[in-house]
Amino acid sequence: MSQPQVIQMPQLQLKQKLVDAIRMLEKAEYIDHNGHCSARRDATSFYINSGASMRGALTVEDIVAIDFQGNLVEGSAKPPLEFPMHAEVYRARAEVNAVFHTHPKYSTYLTMTGTKYQPVYAQGVLLGDIPVMDSPLSVNTRPMGEKMVGIMGNNPAVLLKAHGVVAVGIDIVECFAMAAYVEENAYRQYMAMQIGEPYVFSAEEQKACREKLWTPSLFKKTWDHYHSKIA
Ligand SMILES: [Zn+2]
Repeated sequence: MSQPQVIQMPQLQLKQKLVDAIRMLEKAEYIDHNGHCSARRDATSFYINSGASMRGALTVEDIVAIDFQGNLVEGSAKPPLEFPMHAEVYRARAEVNAVFHTHPKYSTYLTMTGTKYQPVYAQGVLLGDIPVMDSPLSVNTRPMGEKMVGIMGNNPAVLLKAHGVVAVGIDIVECFAMAAYVEENAYRQYMAMQIGEPYVFSAEEQKACREKLWTPSLFKKTWDHYHSKIA
């Protein structure tokens, strides 16, 4: 496996960006009193919000750093019980520098009912054919984390049945965009299903979207949109 490409950013700035992302996800109701997000710190550790932290009023004081076994490297608060879902992604995927675990409603309605997640709007196409982990249980052990990573493959997200979503990215902004697009697509699909059969993008349309839309500028614009709501 190649060495992780850790994005060079001062540690405090990285922690603040993670805090902003979590507050934005809470404001958008993609996470609630649970849910956790992390950013790679170096080859063997990552930053994550503590298990007990209040997501809507988060500060950098609520961010701890842990290694892949869950041992504290920085801070004193306990990490979330589901830290293995982050650790195993970082262990397996060198290109990933951010992992977000959300509990969004509409994506979860689909997995609760066994309804296939379909790309019904342009940004939703970027998620590809999102795999589903067929278990509602917490991903709180290394074997569970490894199982989840195996199901996820190289995809930017995985749906956890009747539980939530895990999204990843090369940085916090890309990861945030993926987490937001998953739920926005699921919301549109769910709402359209109330009045009819939603139109699903064809293979050619999906290809065109992927070619045009997978850009850092779109992800930054998405970030800025949500960021303006917590200012
Ligand atoms: Zn969870």
